[in-house]
Amino acid sequence: MPDTEKNANQAKGGEPRKGAGSPTPFMAQYLALKADYEDALLFFRMGDFYELFFEDAKQAAAALDIVLTRREQRDETIPMCGVPAHAHESYLARLVRQGFKVAICEQVETPAEAKKRGSKALVKREVVRLVTAGTLTEDHLLEPGANAYLAALAEVGEGFGLAWLDLSTGEIAAEPVDKGEAGLAAALARLAPSELLVSERLLQREALFELWGQWRQVMTSLPPARFDSRNAEARLQTHYGVADLTAFGAFSRAEVAALGTLLDYAELTQKGSVAHLARPRRAAPEARLVIDAASRRNLELFEAQAGGRKGSLLAAIDRATTAAGSRLLAQRLAAPLNQRAAIERRLAAVDHLVTAPDLAQDLRAALKALPDLERALARLTLGRGGPRDLVGLRAGLTVAEGIAGLLDADSAELLLDAPLQSLTGQASLRARLERALVESPPLLLRDGGVIKTGYAEELDRLRSLASDSRKHIAALQARYAELSGISALKIKHNNVLGYFIEVSPSLAPRMPDEPFIQRQSLASAVRYTTTELAELDRDLQGAQDRALAIEAQHFQNLVGEVTGRAEAIQAIAQALARLDVATGLATLARERSYIRPHVSDDDSFVIEGGRHPVVEQALAAAGQPFVANDCDLSAETRLWLVTGPNMAGKSTFLRQNALIAILAQAGSFVPARSARIGLVDRLFSRVGAADDLARGRSTFMVEMVETAAILNQAGPRALVILDEIGRGTATFDGLSIAWASLEQLHEVNGCRALFATHYHELTRLQARLPRLVNRSMRVSDYQGQVVFLHEVTSGAADRSYGIHVARLAGLPHAVVHRAEEILRQLEAGEQAGALAQLVDDLPLFSAAANRTREPEPQDEDLLRTRLAEIDPDALTPRAALDLLYELMALR
Ligand code: ATP
Repeated sequence: MPDTEKNANQAKGGEPRKGAGSPTPFMAQYLALKADYEDALLFFRMGDFYELFFEDAKQAAAALDIVLTRREQRDETIPMCGVPAHAHESYLARLVRQGFKVAICEQVETPAEAKKRGSKALVKREVVRLVTAGTLTEDHLLEPGANAYLAALAEVGEGFGLAWLDLSTGEIAAEPVDKGEAGLAAALARLAPSELLVSERLLQREALFELWGQWRQVMTSLPPARFDSRNAEARLQTHYGVADLTAFGAFSRAEVAALGTLLDYAELTQKGSVAHLARPRRAAPEARLVIDAASRRNLELFEAQAGGRKGSLLAAIDRATTAAGSRLLAQRLAAPLNQRAAIERRLAAVDHLVTAPDLAQDLRAALKALPDLERALARLTLGRGGPRDLVGLRAGLTVAEGIAGLLDADSAELLLDAPLQSLTGQASLRARLERALVESPPLLLRDGGVIKTGYAEELDRLRSLASDSRKHIAALQARYAELSGISALKIKHNNVLGYFIEVSPSLAPRMPDEPFIQRQSLASAVRYTTTELAELDRDLQGAQDRALAIEAQHFQNLVGEVTGRAEAIQAIAQALARLDVATGLATLARERSYIRPHVSDDDSFVIEGGRHPVVEQALAAAGQPFVANDCDLSAETRLWLVTGPNMAGKSTFLRQNALIAILAQAGSFVPARSARIGLVDRLFSRVGAADDLARGRSTFMVEMVETAAILNQAGPRALVILDEIGRGTATFDGLSIAWASLEQLHEVNGCRALFATHYHELTRLQARLPRLVNRSMRVSDYQGQVVFLHEVTSGAADRSYGIHVARLAGLPHAVVHRAEEILRQLEAGEQAGALAQLVDDLPLFSAAANRTREPEPQDEDLLRTRLAEIDPDALTPRAALDLLYELMALR
C-alpha cells in the first residue's frame, strides 16, 4: 500500500516512532512492515496475540478501552497493547466501525521453521489483509440484510463515473453521474457506501466541499494516478479474461476508471484473489425513479427520523425470509424503477404468489433453511472460508433443488427470472459435498473431523490407525497398572509432553525401574514414559498430523470446485433472492390487504382508499384503525392544497401518497383499495423541518435549500410533496414564499403535487390556478370537543381549529380567549385588504397565467358556480364571513 494514501477524515495510525536509537531486529521487522501501512493500525501477530506498538497502541487502547502497557527495549520505552488472536474479530469490528483501517500481519512460518534458518532467525511475518469498512466479508462484521458497498468516484473528461462493489456478495456495477453536486448527492444517498474512494484531486474541488463534508467519515482518498482509465481497462480485461469490456456494457471511460480503481483496491486489501466478483453491470440511471437525498430522509425509507431502522418503510414491508432477500428488497426500495415493463414483471411475480398462497407458504418454509450463499461463496473464494461455509453452500444447493421441485417452468420464469434448470444445475457438486463433508463440522479446519468417513481411503486408514493407537494406549494403562501394582496409575496427555504415565508422589517409590523412565516430578504428580508409549505417541501424532493434512487437501479441492462454479452458484443465489422478495411481498400483501397497482405511461395519479404503510401498522399494533383516503392528481387536479389543523393527519396523507408511488415502482403491491399511477420520474419531498447544525444550516435554510431543489428540478412527470414550507420564518415572509412556490409549481413545473399548509390565505388561489384544488382534513367539533377524523375532504379548512388545539393542549383560558380576539382582528384586517388584493395580482407569473386562463368569462362562471353551491341556512356566521371573502376574491 503506497504511503500516500490517507484517510480523508483523520490520518489513522500515525507516526510509528521518533528519535530512538537503532532498533532491535524484532523492532526492525515491525517497522519495515508498518512503513507500508501508515494509514492503518498494524495488528502484529506474536504467538496467541496481535500486538500494537507506538501510536497505533495509543489509538487502539483508547478506541477499545484496553490497557496500554510498555515494552522496555534497549534505551527506549515503547507503548504497546494487544488483543487475543482467538477473539480479535470483535476488536476489529469495533475499530472498523470507528473509522480505522487495520492491517493484519501474521506469522507465515512456525518458530521451528524459523530455527532451521538459524538459531536467531525471526519468524517471518507478512501482512495478509487490510481490513477496511468497505471490504468486510465476515458474517459477524456485516449486517445480514444490508449491502456493504465499497464505492469509487472517477472523473474523466466531462463525466463522473460511479462504481460500487459488495465484496461480500461479489456484486459490482457502475453508472454515469451528472456533474454537479445534486446528481452526485442523490447517487451517494442511494448507495450509502460503507467506504468511498475518491481522488485527491476531486477532494480539492470547491463545488463539492459540502458534499465531501457529509461523506467524510467513510472517505478514503487516493492519488489521482490510481484512477487512470487506461490502467483500469487493462486491469479489468486481465481480471475477466476478455479483450474488450463492451461485452459487459457500454461503459464510459470514467466508469471504467472507477471500476478499475475498485478492483485494484479490492485486490490490495484482500492480498489475493477476488475471483468471485460477478461481471460488472452497467446500471441505467434513466431507468430509475430518482429520489434525492433529502427526500429519502424525509420519507424515512430506510431509517426513521428518530434514528434506527424501526419505523422506516423498509422495516414495515420487509417480510423476506433470507438475508439475501432483505438485501435485494432494500436495493429495490433504494432505486425504484421508471419503466413499466420491468415494474410489471415484478408485480406479476408478487401477483402469482398472492393468488397461490399455499405455494407461497411452501416456498417460505423451504427458504427458511437457506443460508447466505453469496457471502459463503465470497469467503471461500477469498481463501477465508471455513468448513461451515462449505456446509452452508451444500445446504443452499439442497434448498435450491427442493425449491425447483415446487415450481413449474412458467412460475419459475416469473418468480426466479431465470430458467428452472439453473436451480438444479449444481446437483453433482451438491452430491459431492454431501459425500465429502460431515453433517456439522467444527468451525476451524485445523480442528479436523471435517471430511466424512468413506470419502478418502488414506484418511480412513490414518484415522483407524489413530483410533487403534488410542485403544493400545488404553490397554497399556491396564498393563502398566498391573505391572507396577499401582491401580491408580493413569496415562494422560498434554501438548508439551504428549502421552505420559502419571502416579501420585506417595506412590512413586513403588514404580519399578523397568520399563518406566521418569520425565517430570511435580509436587502433585510424578510422570513417566516408556519406549513403547513414546512410539505409540509418535505414531498417533504422526497419523493425526497426516490426517489433518489430507483433510486440508480435500477441503481445498472442494473449495476449488466451488469457486470454479462461482458464477452459476451466484446466479442461483440471486434467483432465490428474487423469489424470496416476491414471496415476502406477497405475504405482506395478503397480511395487510395491499393491492396490485396499475402502472401507466400517462400522468395519472389516482389512489382510492390509500393508507400509510408505516403509520397503519403502528396504529394496528395499538388496536386502532387507520382512516383510508383518496387522492387524485390527474390532469385537472394536479395540485392539491391541503389545509387542516395540526395533528389532523396532513403529513401522514402527503407521505402515504409518495410511499405508495415508491412501493408501486419498486414492484410491490400497495396499501390502497385501488391505485393508478402514471410513472413518476423524480420524487421530491419536503416534510417537516430539522436543523442541520452539523452543516451549519438553520431550519429555515434547510427548508429553502430543499424547496429550491424542487422548484429547479421537478418536471411534468415528477411527484412533489411539500409540507408547510415557509413555516420557519416570519409569517409574511413564509406566506409569500409558500404562495410564490405554489404558483411556480402550478405554472412552471407542472408536476403532480401535494402541498400542505397552515397559511389559510393560500386556499384563495383555487380561484386563479385552474389545476389547483383545495382539500382539508375533516374535524368534528361537537360542543367544543374537537375530534380529528383523519379524513381528507374537498374544500378549505376552517382555520379556527388551531386555537381549539391550543385549548386542548391546556393553554390558560385567558391566553386562548385573547388569541381568539387577536385572530378575529387579524383576519378582518388582512383579508379584506392586502391579501385579497394579492389574489388578483400574480405578477411573477402573469405572462404564463395569461396563457393558461380565459380572463373574465371564466371567472364569472366560477363566481356563478360558487354562488349556486351556497346553502345560506347551513352556514355558520364564521363560514359565511369566509365565504364572503372568497366571493370577493372571485369578483
Ligand atoms: P402537524 O401539522 O402538527 O404536523 P399533521 O396534520 O401533519 O400535523 P400528522 O402528523 O400527519 O398530522 O398526524 C398526526 C397523527 O394522527 C399521526 O401520528 C397518526 O397517529 C394520526 N393519523 C394521521 N393520519 C391518520 C389516518 N389517516 N388514520 C388514523 N390516524 C391518523
